[in-house]
Amino acid sequence: MTSPEQNSDFSIRFWGVRGTIACPGPKYARYGGNTSCIEVCCGDYRFILDGGTGLRPLGEKLLAAGQSLELELYLTHTHLDHIAGLPFFPPMFKPGNKIRLLCGHLHDSDEKLRDVIVRMTAAPLFPVPLEAFSAELSFVDFRSGETLQPRPGVVIRTAPLNHPNGATAYRIEFGGKSVCYVTDCEHREGGLDEPLLDFIRGTDIFIYDSTFTEDEYPKFRGWGHSTWQEGARLAEAAGVGEFVIFHHAPEHPDAVMDAIAEAAHARFARSIVAREGMVLRP
Ligand SMILES: [Zn+2]
Ligand SMILES: [Zn+2]
Repeated sequence: MTSPEQNSDFSIRFWGVRGTIACPGPKYARYGGNTSCIEVCCGDYRFILDGGTGLRPLGEKLLAAGQSLELELYLTHTHLDHIAGLPFFPPMFKPGNKIRLLCGHLHDSDEKLRDVIVRMTAAPLFPVPLEAFSAELSFVDFRSGETLQPRPGVVIRTAPLNHPNGATAYRIEFGGKSVCYVTDCEHREGGLDEPLLDFIRGTDIFIYDSTFTEDEYPKFRGWGHSTWQEGARLAEAAGVGEFVIFHHAPEHPDAVMDAIAEAAHARFARSIVAREGMVLRP
């Protein structure tokens, strides 16, 4: 007797790699100007990390496939660059679609995820109130640190990050491989962040908030972001497979990102600068 063929493909596709604000224009054409959004496939389970402006083109691709969608969208947090694509996500406007939004940083706050999205889509900020979205929406506030098991064989570990108003790191495990998504996050100076090191230890792909360079960082202490150099130190200490530089600053157009890519490669050979459209397989 043969068992049915299992889909064991594990892939991530970057739809938005920029931090803070979307950056259109030729200076950003090669690495991309959309804000944080990553599509993850663990076999037949497809989900999304963050709803930045990269969510809109991802939505167009998903709708083009035709059938009704059941989607889960895990947010690191609700700063605008991570949710700006939500009201423009085409699958939100199609009856029959089911979309579940999840986040972990509001568990202890008075305002829950649904309240934040209602506020974001309320007049006069946006012309279409949340009730008018045709898809069936649901909201989950888990607590950062919980482990989620959305499907058999898929484990999503979470951890709180050092960021103004909080943020959540994700470690996705499937088929003996893993991907860690760690943005937005400020490192602590004077030693590596031990809990974070434990969280990312041995992962195949480590995506990290590399908004600043070490030279720039002193001017932005307390802003909630880190450097590619800190990411390289963490990657080395945790024995990760590939280190992905992510959440590029608007002040870093393509020419600057090329220089960062070269310097990072010299520091940690398995470094990659995230680009829109890039696909990685752990
Ligand atoms: Zn951000
Ligand atoms: Zn943020």
